[in-house]
Amino acid sequence: MRSGAKLISLGTALMLFFAPLLLAQNVVDGGKKPRVIVIGVNGAEWDILRPLLVRGEMPNLAWVIGRGVSGKLQTVSAPNCPKVYSVFATGAPSEENGITGFKVGGLVARTEMLRLPTFWSILSQNNVTVGMANVPATFPAKPVNGFMITGMLTRGKTCDGLLCSPRLSEVEGGDAVYPPALAREIESHVGDIPIDCSRMPGAPELRGHEPEVVKNWLEQVSQIRRQQQKLFDYLLTNHSTDFTFFVQSCEDRTGHWLYPIQPHNVGYDPKLHTLSVDAFPNQYREFDKLLGTILKHVDANTTLIVLSDHGIKPLREFEPAMAHMDHAGATPVVAKHDFEDGDEVPGVFIAMGPGIKRGARIFGLPMSVFDIAPTILHIYGISAPAQMKGRVLTEIFAKPEAPDDLHQLP
Ligand SMILES: [Zn+2]
Repeated sequence: MRSGAKLISLGTALMLFFAPLLLAQNVVDGGKKPRVIVIGVNGAEWDILRPLLVRGEMPNLAWVIGRGVSGKLQTVSAPNCPKVYSVFATGAPSEENGITGFKVGGLVARTEMLRLPTFWSILSQNNVTVGMANVPATFPAKPVNGFMITGMLTRGKTCDGLLCSPRLSEVEGGDAVYPPALAREIESHVGDIPIDCSRMPGAPELRGHEPEVVKNWLEQVSQIRRQQQKLFDYLLTNHSTDFTFFVQSCEDRTGHWLYPIQPHNVGYDPKLHTLSVDAFPNQYREFDKLLGTILKHVDANTTLIVLSDHGIKPLREFEPAMAHMDHAGATPVVAKHDFEDGDEVPGVFIAMGPGIKRGARIFGLPMSVFDIAPTILHIYGISAPAQMKGRVLTEIFAKPEAPDDLHQLP
């Protein structure tokens, strides 16, 4: 907590800087602020999660689902991580928020391109402490009332920012950590952490070496997850904040080329797709263990949200070969998510906590990626600014709140 307090006082100093920008201050100062932890699992796909849940192989996620609300999360057309995370961030469509994908105007997307405030900057301005790690499209790190460790699109030595994994010490072209002193602390207490997940191997690398390449890549992925787990645990223990947002990114990448497909599926290659049929489901089994670590930091007053930006499904459209933004430029993808009809690949939404319904399931697609920012602001008693196109997900709360209660802390 020592260094946590230091970070927060830095954040408080920042508030003075933000003061002229303050929105209507709805959060009652001095009162206990809600605590919210959001875990993003890129590309989390119900089709793969559900059988694991039924088989009892994701006990932690099952526990959260049983005590909360769950359903599909409608995503945007042709979803990818930077595009949807920027919708999460601003509550506005990509054409309005400025981040339309991995690249904008031929350049790898950066936070300077974002034209609208993020909900975490609004939380910061309202005196809510914010801690984030590995959230896509947050590079270079911008100041928040707490800390920020960037995720996907972070650039580094030999990494142009596109789906590679620079280590903290290799980051270039901006800060990956705010405040900068936290970077040294992480290096000494957690290690020289990889930011984001490894790039997938390309077809030439794979050809003739499938078993070793798959095995080595999956080992790298496990190592990255272990370090992320250690990082999240360290941050929740030593730098606990009111609002926390951590993201996992290896699941989606594994799904792209190792989705457990059948011979009738597009792109089936027995040399590759009989090797490690469990590779993709294993990502979720491992995620469940990571969730167990997070749950140690969740008490009765914490709202926990697990969500994904989109799902991922085996190829299913008539498309020109390699039309997909396939990460390494030549990876033989067999599953994807950037279908023009985003309803093909809805994301996941699971929430548990004070005031949230227990064991409830929401059918269909009434909940959307646009609703996340307004709903989180609502939990802190802050009304959504006009830029946000979504709504507060009132159906997840146990009792309908009268309009007068909307801006009051529980
Ligand atoms: Zn992807």
